[in-house]
Amino acid sequence: MEIPKRKIIHVDMDAFYASVEQHDNPELKGKPIAVGGGHRGVVSAASYEARKFGVRSAMPSKIAKEKCPHLIFVPHRFARYKEISQKIRAIFHEYTDLVEPLSLDEAYLDVTENKKGIESANLIAREIRKRIFEETGLTASAGISVNKFLAKVASDINKPNGQKTIHPSQILEFLEELPIEKFYGIGKVTANKMYSLQIFKGKDLKAKTLEELMRLFGKSGAYYYNVVRGIHNGEVKPNRIQKSVAVEHTFWDDINEDEQVDQKLKSLSEELEARLSKKEIKGKTLTLKIKYKDFSQFTRSKTQEIYFENAQDFYETSKKLWELRPYNKAIRLLGLSLSNLNTEEKKQISVQLKIPFEEFE
Ligand SMILES: [Mg+2]
Repeated sequence: MEIPKRKIIHVDMDAFYASVEQHDNPELKGKPIAVGGGHRGVVSAASYEARKFGVRSAMPSKIAKEKCPHLIFVPHRFARYKEISQKIRAIFHEYTDLVEPLSLDEAYLDVTENKKGIESANLIAREIRKRIFEETGLTASAGISVNKFLAKVASDINKPNGQKTIHPSQILEFLEELPIEKFYGIGKVTANKMYSLQIFKGKDLKAKTLEELMRLFGKSGAYYYNVVRGIHNGEVKPNRIQKSVAVEHTFWDDINEDEQVDQKLKSLSEELEARLSKKEIKGKTLTLKIKYKDFSQFTRSKTQEIYFENAQDFYETSKKLWELRPYNKAIRLLGLSLSNLNTEEKKQISVQLKIPFEEFE
């Protein structure tokens, strides 16, 4: 089977949480630190200095402390990690909108056709890593190849602060020599099972038939069979951007009294506000939906220049929209939705906005 040739980059920040803490607090630089944990928890990230002692993420703090007695525990600051994550995503989007985040600190990018018209994915990865360092003071590693699986495996090879390209001509040989535990999607348990079957490297895996692998590993068997042949066709899927937020109520008993409607609009407005504040979303267009008892439907919207701010705004506007209704019939459903959201704009803003460093302290 022909291997489809996309240009995929997997970017992965190096020891992300730990590096952020060391960057923001220079006293921690060069020291073994663990983020999270504390007395009874588990470590969520370990600095490279701590890793030398065998400290790993997901390790109980107690064991981490035994392995590295001078380990320094630092509490999480998720808001800070998120902020940096947004910065690096903004950098990615300067090159392509085909960005699929895996977590705060890693993402796949499809740069086959990129916004800068750069031919070499290798060069793009180098530029992106440089930009990340300039804007955040943190290092990232990258893997470059023809699909997500290979890019992901590659980004680990020259970590930290390095990158690796697996060229199409090298793929099959690379995979044959790759130790089985380095295959993305093969965890500890599966790796052990494979060892017991005398599968240690890609070439051992490749010697198995599809039927055999499916019998041994179920559906995953087919995945292993394909990836070891360089076949992995998963597309880079950008996270869908939310276009609207809606709340609605269907009534058991049809209503038509102005007073009842007024109450309903009030509670819908409050509900909408609650939904939005959780997501930090704002919008400029408010739509009222009315479904009548006979199932005919009416919607009317109001768009304004500035964002609707809160429940009071929604309520007042929805009252005006209510006045525009065509009939005075019994209604069975009322809904409010907000669109024209700041979710699109946020992306644009974060590209340009440079916050002075002091504000991060
Ligand atoms: Mg990482």
